[in-house]
Amino acid sequence: MSWTTWFFENQVRFQGEFLPNEPLSKHTYYKIGGPATLLLIPETLESLSWIQEGLKLMECDFNIIGLGSNLLISDKGLDSLVIKTSKINSKIELLNETTIRVGAAVTVTSLLRVASQSGWAGLEWMTGIPGNVGGVVSMNAGTHLGEAKNSLIRVETFHLTRGLEIFTDQQIRYEYRKNLFLEREHLITQADWRIARSNADSVKTLIQETLARRKSTQPLEYPSCGSVFKNPAGKKAWEVLDALNLRGHQIGQAQFSKKHPNFIVNLKGALASDVWALIVLAKERAHTELGIELQEEVKYLK
Ligand SMILES: Cc1cc2nc3c(=O)[nH]c(=O)nc-3n(C[C@H](O)[C@H](O)[C@H](O)COP(=O)(O)OP(=O)(O)OC[C@H]3O[C@@H](n4cnc5c(N)ncnc54)[C@H](O)[C@@H]3O)c2cc1C
Repeated sequence: MSWTTWFFENQVRFQGEFLPNEPLSKHTYYKIGGPATLLLIPETLESLSWIQEGLKLMECDFNIIGLGSNLLISDKGLDSLVIKTSKINSKIELLNETTIRVGAAVTVTSLLRVASQSGWAGLEWMTGIPGNVGGVVSMNAGTHLGEAKNSLIRVETFHLTRGLEIFTDQQIRYEYRKNLFLEREHLITQADWRIARSNADSVKTLIQETLARRKSTQPLEYPSCGSVFKNPAGKKAWEVLDALNLRGHQIGQAQFSKKHPNFIVNLKGALASDVWALIVLAKERAHTELGIELQEEVKYLK
């Protein structure tokens, strides 16, 4: 039996969206990506157990995605099971005066809305990150105001072979935009964050100022994945791209943004291969002309 047959035949036990041959361009901020053989958007922990059972029996390849704001997905698509985590847990709960528990499917925008209404300070550094909380935890996402590792206290996951696993403060380990504690099979279900009591107005003001600043410096009018490259030690990636004269450089419909060159924007109908060609070009030229090794922040799934 093929793995897809198993998932089709046992579908009645699944709660959520079951989408065969689903174009992944509908699930990425880039609006790029061919079809997934099967995309599942589970809504319950029982459905995760069902996926776990299928993966154990059929041993097929899988990918976990969040809101797709840091993903470049191949034009061919993914011949795998793709598990989208945007409906798995949308709860926000105040545990005590200094801790909130947030479901992985909560968007940064809605978390910050609740935080500013409630006068919870400490998470303003997330402002402008367009993903889900699960994606923020996985990526150690951050801004000039801070990053996930400074505020995270505890992470709860569903491991796709071993089930529920919890990571405490001491076990959470990060590097710049990279986690060192999760395996590929760890699907993040919720996380606890450190907060401080403040007044609603001051939280709201900082968020609004940061959003305005980002709007004036980032090409938010085009689909993108945010920063394509990590900042190399002691430098900004955009400065490296400017030194290479790549601002505005275009392949097909993909372009190093004229407004902010570390954003590769999809002008209209760009292919993953166009975006990737720009990435390869920048890496090769940074290496040969400047002796700098650029590393992608975007995840390329192919
Ligand atoms: C306009 C724009 C601005 C951006 N600005 C910033 C910024 O300021 N700072 C920054 O750090 N990033 C930024 N990003 C990138 C992106 O928003 C972040 O990396 C974000 O945290 C990704 O979240 P996501 O839910 O979209 O995850 P996805 O892009 O879907 O996935 C990213 C990674 O996280 C993993 N993942 C997602 N959810 C889960 C889960 N529940 N369990 C296990 N693994 C999971 C995926 O497997 C993948 O490896 C920006 C992107 C855009 C488009």
